[in-house]
Amino acid sequence: MSELLTSAVCLDVIVIGAGISGLATAIETALSGHNVIVFEAEEGLHKIGNGMQITPNASLILQRWGLSDNLWASAAEPTSFTIRRYSGGALAVEEDWKNKIQARYGAPFIELHRIDFQKALYERAKELGVQFRFGEKISRVDFETGEITSQFGTSTRGDLVVAADGLWSLCRAQFLSRDFEGVPRPTGDLAYRLTIKLDRIQDLELREWVNNPKFNIWMGPKSHVVGYSLRRGTEFNLILITPDDLPSDASRQAGSVEELRALFKNWDPILTKFIELASSVKKWKLIHRKEMRRWIHDSPNSKVAFVGDCCHPVPPYLGQGANSSIEDGTVLGRLLGHVQTKEQISQVLGLYEQLRKPRGEAVTKASLEQRDVLHMIDGPKQRVRDELLLSQVDKEAKEAPFPIRMLCPQAQPWLFGYDAYAEVDKAVSECPFIIPREEDSDLGDEDSGIAFEN
Ligand SMILES: Cc1cc2nc3c(=O)[nH]c(=O)nc-3n(C[C@H](O)[C@H](O)[C@H](O)COP(=O)(O)OP(=O)(O)OC[C@H]3O[C@@H](n4cnc5c(N)ncnc54)[C@H](O)[C@@H]3O)c2cc1C
Repeated sequence: MSELLTSAVCLDVIVIGAGISGLATAIETALSGHNVIVFEAEEGLHKIGNGMQITPNASLILQRWGLSDNLWASAAEPTSFTIRRYSGGALAVEEDWKNKIQARYGAPFIELHRIDFQKALYERAKELGVQFRFGEKISRVDFETGEITSQFGTSTRGDLVVAADGLWSLCRAQFLSRDFEGVPRPTGDLAYRLTIKLDRIQDLELREWVNNPKFNIWMGPKSHVVGYSLRRGTEFNLILITPDDLPSDASRQAGSVEELRALFKNWDPILTKFIELASSVKKWKLIHRKEMRRWIHDSPNSKVAFVGDCCHPVPPYLGQGANSSIEDGTVLGRLLGHVQTKEQISQVLGLYEQLRKPRGEAVTKASLEQRDVLHMIDGPKQRVRDELLLSQVDKEAKEAPFPIRMLCPQAQPWLFGYDAYAEVDKAVSECPFIIPREEDSDLGDEDSGIAFEN
């Protein structure tokens, strides 16, 4: 099947939210030949942000999208994956990473600055003709008609509405009839996030760390830290996850550097030297939510689908939230390339949910389970874990089930080997609905009545 699909009918698709999931949906839907308009509450793309790890299940897609060379040039590609004990920094795992990952999956494991990444996605979407309405917060969605209303009271109707409005989704809140599905569930952790620029680092050992990208994890009691380079090895990104002490109604706050230093003072001296350089830090409460019963509006004329954090926020213990969001948007957008009449939209949405919901929820579950492995308190269980890690430190292939899921020979191909295009193409080849029915053949050009600008 060809890489590029162009649908027989041109749909008007509304995307709510210009985060990673919304931009991914917009790009793939535009590649499928549809009109796309993205409504974003903020006045522009996010101006602040930290690092994110993009794994081969998503970078394979990014390669196909033809994103700017600047983005690829800005990536840091870690040569190895190391895991250390918190105190003293004793090595528990060291794995050749860059070469192995490329060879296994035909796509890289890269580390990007969120701002660079969103900008590259946005620019590609614009090239493909996607329209953006920044500063237009959507305040109401009509799930029956596909009409959305902004905070200014203006309404727009599409053939399809894709909710991509993130963890605090208004679309989700309006969609759910039962409260308990919508209630945020604290993981019990928060993340301190900071980046340090190379030009602020004098210490030669630290400079060496930043210049030579590696993927580093430190495991400690009820806590862990992830550290990696960004922007061609000119910045260092740290995510420090510790027990949550934010007020229950606060999701994000400025943190205190002194407090952070005190929390990690007995950790690996390399890490404490990095923390010493921090001038400011942010604290994020890590939240997930109960699984949603449906990811699409459940009606014969379904016109609304959910993607990304708004339907399955993935806690960052496996670094899969954005990667999974890209998978969602790609599967949905590519399926839309097979729509031949507007009547098929609801069938396509059904297939989207069938393909994506089990995987999205399984990745969330695996992420939460990884937390328990990383956060063991010192004691018998932790010693068993560390002995197991050390016993396989020199093994070319780890034995399954390996507790660090990204290194497990079963879990790694499941996470990284997912090919969204192949998933869709296989599902479509097995699905009869894509053959146009005689009675639908004249419905393709029906006007939705929507005023999409050109
Ligand atoms: C500490 C931490 C580290 C992480 N690291 C990684 C990582 O390394 N790799 C990874 O894959 N994932 C990572 N993630 C997860 C990742 O950041 C998210 O899963 C991802 O950003 C979700 O994208 P999204 O587009 O669904 O939501 P968002 O990025 O939240 O985007 C939603 C967008 O919708 C807009 N919006 C909201 N409401 C409205 C409205 N009513 N109308 C219009 N627009 C609206 C918002 O302004 C926003 O732009 C991490 C998360 C955390 C907390």
